[in-house]
Amino acid sequence: MAKLYFKFGAMKCGKTRDLIKTWYNYNEKDMTVIIMKPGDDKKAGGNIQSRAHEELKADYVVPKEINIYDLIANHLIDNNLDCILVDEAQFLTSRQVDELSDVVDNFDIPVLCYGLRADAFSNLFPGSKRLFEVADVLEELKAVCKCGAKATFNLRLNRVSDELIPVFSGEQVSIDGIDAEYDSVCRPCYKKLRRKYEKKKEN
Ligand SMILES: [Zn+2]
Repeated sequence: MAKLYFKFGAMKCGKTRDLIKTWYNYNEKDMTVIIMKPGDDKKAGGNIQSRAHEELKADYVVPKEINIYDLIANHLIDNNLDCILVDEAQFLTSRQVDELSDVVDNFDIPVLCYGLRADAFSNLFPGSKRLFEVADVLEELKAVCKCGAKATFNLRLNRVSDELIPVFSGEQVSIDGIDAEYDSVCRPCYKKLRRKYEKKKEN
């Protein structure tokens, strides 16, 4: 019986690297694997890239309105398929996660989803929430905070001229036009930074 996996973690926990490694493992065994990525075709681009600049092309970039079950059913008419890898799975809709679970159950194809647990304000993403609810296997990929503890929080840093300013409220997905970077930190360090910046604002 195939399974639905959710491999989750904070930024920089090596999700994409793990995905690329898995892709190579399947290919070495002459098995057929495809990569899927949520998003808008025009905006997101078709590539996935690890921090070590390893890069693969996504076979499908799936906007929110796409039915993934139908997409895979169609793909299977002309192709074999042994595994599906999903990058940035936090951006899937809840419905698309259910469609992937139908792919697992009806076609007996394993689906490995890689994604963030929560956004920069420690709220679950819709795709991640649904994956926590329905996935067979949950695996945490660990990132490390500067202090050495396990990093579970994502810190958003807005680039304003040459400075990186931590941001503690806002939209889940950073709005276009604002140059944002992310760091992964542990919860105590996140709170410490937030207190520091709130104090700075008051003065
Ligand atoms: Zn820390």
